[in-house]
Amino acid sequence: MIRGVEKASMGGIVNISDETCLGCGACVEICPQHILYIDNNKDTAAVTDHGRCDRMKGCEMVCPVGAI
Ligand code: SF4
Repeated sequence: MIRGVEKASMGGIVNISDETCLGCGACVEICPQHILYIDNNKDTAAVTDHGRCDRMKGCEMVCPVGAI
């Protein structure tokens, strides 16, 4: 499983492990681009728009379990 924020042509690609994510919402809170949310069907974090990711990697830094 690829995790973390990768560079893409127009922004970033945010890789989240559904198996590891706790659904705590820490990444959702810190994302300045507001592109993360908790998917209520899976109770895990999900991404609305990879192209708006600024690749600052705050989500990676705050995730307590390394799911991003
Ligand atoms: S911070 Fe990590 S564990 Fe918490 S919702 Fe985001 S990806 Fe899941």
